[in-house]
Amino acid sequence: MYIPTIGLEIHAELKTQTKMFCGCLNDGLEKEPNKNTCPVCLGHPGTLPTINKEAVKKVIRVGFALKGTIADYSQFDRKSYFYPDLPKGYQISQYEYPIVKSGILNGVRITRVHLEEDAGRLVHDREGKTLVDFNRAGVPLMELVTEPDIKNAEEAVAFARELQLILKYLGASDADMENGQMRIEANVSIAPENAEKLGSKVEVKNINSFKSVHDAIQYEIGRQEKLLNEGKQVKQETRGWNDSKRITESQRTKEEANDYRYFPEPDLPPMNLKEVFDLEALKAETPELPEEKRHRFVQEFGITKEQIEILICEPELADYFEAAASELGEQTEKPDYQLLANYLTSDLKGLMNTQNLNFSELKIPPEHLAHLAGLITQGKISSRIAKDLLPKMIETGEDPENLIKANDMELVSDEGALRAIADEVIAKNEKSATDYKNGKENALQFLVGQMMAKTKGKADPEGARKALKERLS
Ligand code: ADP
Ligand code: ZN
Ligand code: MG
Repeated sequence: MYIPTIGLEIHAELKTQTKMFCGCLNDGLEKEPNKNTCPVCLGHPGTLPTINKEAVKKVIRVGFALKGTIADYSQFDRKSYFYPDLPKGYQISQYEYPIVKSGILNGVRITRVHLEEDAGRLVHDREGKTLVDFNRAGVPLMELVTEPDIKNAEEAVAFARELQLILKYLGASDADMENGQMRIEANVSIAPENAEKLGSKVEVKNINSFKSVHDAIQYEIGRQEKLLNEGKQVKQETRGWNDSKRITESQRTKEEANDYRYFPEPDLPPMNLKEVFDLEALKAETPELPEEKRHRFVQEFGITKEQIEILICEPELADYFEAAASELGEQTEKPDYQLLANYLTSDLKGLMNTQNLNFSELKIPPEHLAHLAGLITQGKISSRIAKDLLPKMIETGEDPENLIKANDMELVSDEGALRAIADEVIAKNEKSATDYKNGKENALQFLVGQMMAKTKGKADPEGARKALKERLS
């Protein structure tokens, strides 16, 4: 039996107006190559960097959100290495004095969070030529390092997902893994149960999705177990995740490890964070974080865990739900928050997806959705009518009650009217009527369905059932 141990190193591009050390636009999605560049981020000799305070502030916010300690003193260092996407020959990073010195998330201790600059991007074209795009060079990048506290692939993914959510909530990063705004490296080792020391670690790079985080760790644990079981040793090395083969492959061993020759960046002033920022004020500005929201949603609305997770994962969706829920609470005696959440996350969200709408473009204000849910609960409309109403609400921005009146969609619940419709349906479906009389309960459901069809979904289902039973008894 071997016990796995995992530590994560996570990079995230920060959402700031400009780059880390120059005034170029920070736009990681810019398509035109080398548009957002200047002599500073192109690494021309003789240029001078300046610190983007907004980026420092964002890392401090992340530190507070992770219950961390913000350093009194912090500085930038040069990390020297050569690569074609790094024209200076060094990256400005932080070594001994990171901005955030500790923290905790999901029970995993955080070693540090520091600030650095991103490198450019290499583009390999079809003829085998390599081109360099420096739009990303100098984009502010935070790096978070955890202690080796993670025990399996699932915990690692849960940690990374929660961090991604927190970064979004803070507005610190869009943290999309698909386009490289968030990148995860996993350090993996295994050791026999009760061993005193951890095994030698393998660092896995090139992971580009949460699924691959999981699979790469799983694969690596299996590979290391096999080696030990064969009496071999695990080499300390850097391996790359091959996304199509779904295996890790050796990149470089400890002997070939880089020597970065860190030294203090002479072109940037050291930072006395306490003096530059009002840290207490920044801490107080920490917004409600996902975990707090989960607890509050359980308590205030009593909706299912699955439903809450869907809402929490999209901050705008959660805000919309809250606004609608508070309306519903005012409109109705017994607000059905679960029903509201269902209509929001499945029906409305589904329509928004097919029509390619985001919340700022949506014509339905939260109170209209609340009104719709209220009308269903009060039995004024059927769920079938609600489904027809939603697209009309999106199209017109009208309140559901007005639309119901204008489009003659009100539920038919008048007993006399229902009795008349029941008579017609019974006359047309004599066999089902007889079946029901002979004890076949299913036949009644069929007849109710016929009444619905006849009224285009407007018959009150309970009333229809009652009318049929009465006529057939
Ligand atoms: P390095 O000197 O190679 O940078 P660090 O001690 O700084 O190594 O750790 C880098 C990352 O590797 C951290 O996330 C840490 O938690 C993790 N780590 C360290 N030792 C192990 C180990 N034996 N098994 C798994 N992860 C480890
Ligand atoms: Zn620049
Ligand atoms: Mg290290």
